[in-house]
Amino acid sequence: MLIVISGPSGSGKGTIIKEVMKKIPDLIYSVSYTTRPKREGEIEGKDYFFISKDEFEKLIDEDFFIEWAKVYDYYYGTSKEFVLNNLNDNKDVILEIEIQGAKKIREIYDKKNVIFIFIVPPDFKELERRIMNRKRGETEEEIKKRMNFAKKEIEESKNYDYIIINDNINKAVKKIVNIINKERRKIYDSRF
Ligand code: 5GP
Repeated sequence: MLIVISGPSGSGKGTIIKEVMKKIPDLIYSVSYTTRPKREGEIEGKDYFFISKDEFEKLIDEDFFIEWAKVYDYYYGTSKEFVLNNLNDNKDVILEIEIQGAKKIREIYDKKNVIFIFIVPPDFKELERRIMNRKRGETEEEIKKRMNFAKKEIEESKNYDYIIINDNINKAVKKIVNIINKERRKIYDSRF
């Protein structure tokens, strides 16, 4: 099964996914490719594969990506081969992608083996505060861009199967673990 997780920047989705993966260790996280510069503390091949714009565009031409999108002037994409190989091995793969990419996956995939989860912060002000508090060396302009994009993402959330409000990390993690286990059982039961 493919598990697609989206949510605005600052929704806490990264932390939630890490915790979910500790609870369900056989989930496979798909590491994306991006042209955005590496942030402090990020690790090549673990957080992202950091590549140049030229390299990314070459990979687009080679049909390397199952989906890709341009966000805040940077490219982000998911390796088709990685995802398909793992799905063929009966593994469950997590994609942490934004709404345009999720839309693409929705178009190409058989609905019954994909779940779409959207994570939102308790309220938008809280989201703004979290984005501002990150202090990642972003300019006002960049922060504004992120806020606008976050608004669009929240509007898009209606197309997801589940919306998780992250007002408490542990509760949010528990909800997602339950969803994945429930969906796994459904798929298992449908085979017998
Ligand atoms: P960030 O730069 O904060 O790591 O990520 C920015 C946005 O890009 C986030 O919403 C994240 O979910 C999304 N993203 C990360 N990897 C991919 C990907 O492979 N494809 C798409 N479509 N979006 C991605």
